[in-house]
Amino acid sequence: MRIIITIISLFAINFQLLCVSPEVGSYLKVSPRKGDAIINLLKRYSLEGQSNMEFFIKRNSNLLGPQNGLFMHKEYELPILVASFNGVNIRTSLNISDYNIAKKIQDYNISMHSKKLKKHDYRTDKILWVPFLELGIENMMQIKQGDAPSKTGAKQDDALSKNAIRNLALFGDKSSAFKKTDSKLQDHIFYLIAGHGGPDPGAIGYRDGNELHEHQYAYDVTLRLAKKLMESGAEVFIIVQDESDGIREEKYLPKSGSEILINGDSISSVQVTRLKQRTDIVNELYRKNNKKGSKHLLIETHVDSRITDKRIDIFFYHQPDSDEGKRFCEALLGTIKEKYDKNQPGRGYSGTVSARNLYTLRNTTPVGVYIELGNIQNANDQIRLIEPSNRQAIANWLYLGILKAYNK
Ligand SMILES: [Zn+2]
Repeated sequence: MRIIITIISLFAINFQLLCVSPEVGSYLKVSPRKGDAIINLLKRYSLEGQSNMEFFIKRNSNLLGPQNGLFMHKEYELPILVASFNGVNIRTSLNISDYNIAKKIQDYNISMHSKKLKKHDYRTDKILWVPFLELGIENMMQIKQGDAPSKTGAKQDDALSKNAIRNLALFGDKSSAFKKTDSKLQDHIFYLIAGHGGPDPGAIGYRDGNELHEHQYAYDVTLRLAKKLMESGAEVFIIVQDESDGIREEKYLPKSGSEILINGDSISSVQVTRLKQRTDIVNELYRKNNKKGSKHLLIETHVDSRITDKRIDIFFYHQPDSDEGKRFCEALLGTIKEKYDKNQPGRGYSGTVSARNLYTLRNTTPVGVYIELGNIQNANDQIRLIEPSNRQAIANWLYLGILKAYNK
């Protein structure tokens, strides 16, 4: 599903504010009426296109009964994005240039209000509903809040705020409780890539009749790490993303294929193009965000696959000529070793740091670290991947290793 519309709040990043009005930047949630099937519910909200139905089933799959039946007491996400209205006009509220689309959004909000589905007029509650699939604007990155008259006078940083809110949505419902805990990583920018995705699941392991797809596990750890970094005030760009997969608590993560890139592009099926897409995005983001005093780190996460069935532990690669890359790898390795020694004395840890000429590291401007989380074919390494608490532990340790590398 290609849904990449993102909304930013009226003010600069302010997570307290997000907690007060959690609905802005998320999908509208509603409960069905008695006797509702999905189609009636969608129709009530004038969501007639097939893509709305696909979105609905995918987003709400774990809340559906037999034959996709609905439960009256449950809340379902609709393909309607909740956005702030800046009190001026819809175009500057959402930063869209197309007058006709702005007009359609206005008509839609007026109609929803007159049908009493939306409690207040958007000019009163300053909330807009954007039926993005119905309007065919799901591929438009440019929907974001414009230069609203800010009560606080706070300077806006559109791109960053937009990205932060987008990330919170990516973390998923169960993990949406987000609280900035400190500012240790203020002015730090991270580019996180979960290897593979889209048409490429990465390496595949097998366990108890389940397929383990490399990308899924790398992505879950990546999201957990992203959240940790953001909690310390970092700006995080999640380069490969899948809005249908949040941080997941299941052991076996289903294969997907619906991953896209942060800029909304689909992932190429040609390997070299696929890699170039990512490095181009990282370099572009770096160029835009490389302000004075900012610090940047690229982290690409994979799960290795070897012919042998050997346990290989978490290991690291850096670009051959990058002393900085090597330093980061060693800090991460050191932290993981410390944690293993403390938590599982006598286990031993055989992780390594080595130089390797890898496309992503070679072709990106920021310093990069390439992580392999183990051997997806090995039964012991698999436990590190399939246990959600282990995935969280890896993310925590990587986070601590990063702090160590930055002397925090
Ligand atoms: Zn890989």
